[in-house]
Amino acid sequence: MKKLGGSKFILLLLLIFIVLISLYAIIDYIYYPKITLKKGDIVINLNSKYKEPGYKATYKDEDITNNVFVEGSVNTKKLGVYNINYSVIEGSKIKEVTRKVYVKDLEKPTIQLYDNNDIYVCPDEEFVPSKYKAYDNLDKDITDKVKVIRKGASISYSVKDSSGNETVINKKIHYKDVEGPTISFKTSDKISLALNSKYNDDYTVVDNCDKDNLNVEVTGKVDVKTPGEYIVKYKAVDKYGNKTVKKKKVDVFVKGAKGTVYLTFDDGPREGTTDQILDILKEEHIKATFFVTNSGPDDLIKREYNEGHTVGLHTASHNYSYIYSSIDNYFNDLESVQDRVYKITGNKSKIIRFPGGSSNTISRRYKVGIMSELTKEVVKRGYRYYDWNILSGDAGETTDSRVVYQMVTEKLSKDRVNVVLMHDIKSYTKDALRDIIKYGKENGFIFDKIEDSSEMIVQRVNN
Ligand code: ZN
Repeated sequence: MKKLGGSKFILLLLLIFIVLISLYAIIDYIYYPKITLKKGDIVINLNSKYKEPGYKATYKDEDITNNVFVEGSVNTKKLGVYNINYSVIEGSKIKEVTRKVYVKDLEKPTIQLYDNNDIYVCPDEEFVPSKYKAYDNLDKDITDKVKVIRKGASISYSVKDSSGNETVINKKIHYKDVEGPTISFKTSDKISLALNSKYNDDYTVVDNCDKDNLNVEVTGKVDVKTPGEYIVKYKAVDKYGNKTVKKKKVDVFVKGAKGTVYLTFDDGPREGTTDQILDILKEEHIKATFFVTNSGPDDLIKREYNEGHTVGLHTASHNYSYIYSSIDNYFNDLESVQDRVYKITGNKSKIIRFPGGSSNTISRRYKVGIMSELTKEVVKRGYRYYDWNILSGDAGETTDSRVVYQMVTEKLSKDRVNVVLMHDIKSYTKDALRDIIKYGKENGFIFDKIEDSSEMIVQRVNN
């Protein structure tokens, strides 16, 4: 026998191997069933849903997909590689294939910056990168992994999570001031001022970049001795040329002049409504008059007084059958609420309102002629009583704040002093108040409180 050389032998072995493999493949192709996996091995995101991508099985051109047995599951909540096995039996021939499903973290971390847009830095100031936070679905807080890189006029924030997902945010830095100074008034930009009272023109001005001696040019003057409408203009320019102009409207009015509106609130105080009414009055820089009883918390009467409103008296009990059955009963009741107010505010009020008004007829049931007597007697004892000439409808006519608004605004007149009857214990009155004030301001009415010097506004006595 002729010996084969070493290299020739290896070549022959290789040849035999290739022939065998090919043979196997041909036999496998012809005689065995075939399974095709759609998409093959796949990668899915952590916590996403795994959905079978599909497969097909054939045997000698016949579709036998329905005979395929699928085994294995994917836990998408856990990183890892999962095998899904597909097998099909045709006679004694078994075909098996495996799909690998890689559950990976594909989600990028997020970087939260406090400058939303481009960054503006004052021209003569050093840029300090703002604070940031980085968060990843898997690694949670990765703020300490954030890399901040500055290159000239740009800055980049980048962070990588443990799975290698990266987030990069690039921002431009502009060394430019684009903001004008801020001018703010101690009072509001629309104020009403009683004739001859003191005008407070205090204002402050600040600028984001210009820290030294910012100049404000004020044009226009307020003459507190002459009634009228005054506009004062405030202009400030920072050293980079940004300008701010603000206007202030000052109405110098004669106390008790026609067109004045006295907002009056009866039957309070009451927690939940009076406090909110006080908030609105404060925001609108308006003073009003409260005719209080012995109900409600003391601190709301204290607030009314401290915030500059008039605290008037409405009787302690508001009980018609008691207060209108005798002169003594009425004054006992009035003195009771007077004591309360005095204890809270340290001030005795001379301003009163009769429950039901001086024109009420209900008092006839308890004592004929009592209102004729009382209206004279209260004045004799130094009190001043105030009825009203505008009903807000909140005493029973309506519970709708829109109706309250309408009833008040349609009756406001420039030809008289307006006294509006309202109740601070009613939520719908509170809800209508802001719009009533807005309407009044826009239409040139002056809101004021009743004071000791205010002329009495009374109705015709009917009993
Ligand atoms: Zn009342």
